[in-house]
Amino acid sequence: MTARLDVLSTGYADERVASTVVLIRDGDVTIVVDPGMVADRSVLLGRLRELGVEPASVTDVVFSHHHPDHTLNAALFGQARFHDHWAIYKDDVWEERQADGYEVSESVHLLATPGHTAEDITTLVVTADGLVACTHLWWSADGPEIDPLALDQALLEESRRKLLALRPASIVPGHGAPFAPG
Ligand SMILES: [Zn+2]
Ligand SMILES: [Zn+2]
Repeated sequence: MTARLDVLSTGYADERVASTVVLIRDGDVTIVVDPGMVADRSVLLGRLRELGVEPASVTDVVFSHHHPDHTLNAALFGQARFHDHWAIYKDDVWEERQADGYEVSESVHLLATPGHTAEDITTLVVTADGLVACTHLWWSADGPEIDPLALDQALLEESRRKLLALRPASIVPGHGAPFAPG
């Protein structure tokens, strides 16, 4: 069993900023990663429609970290559970749990990858094309090598090494298109 991953919107960070937003389908589980800033929310809704997914059928949303550029459009998915580094939120229930190693679905796990902030998590997805990592450890295929907003650059580099050791086939960065590492 593997999951299917589609990019809903490819992010950027120049004079404007948008998050890379991802849809993952794994059996009964439908996940959106980082429903943050986009040029217009119709970008997300239109792409979901193309893919045959109703926003209300999204079961889980993962926040890579707490910055608004990665969370702003979360309310589009009113039926979902929301995951961050230390809890799952649904309606008025705040369930504490550590994200590291957490299984969202059979083919989707979370990995603690701090550095950009102390709360960063990576979503690991087993797809038919290999392991895909949705992560803010890179902004895009071009880096930057030194994250100008990193809370702790040394910790970020340690997290990059930890992630690359899993030999992902593809990395979906915070503000760019998927790329093959190396
Ligand atoms: Zn950030
Ligand atoms: Zn960002």
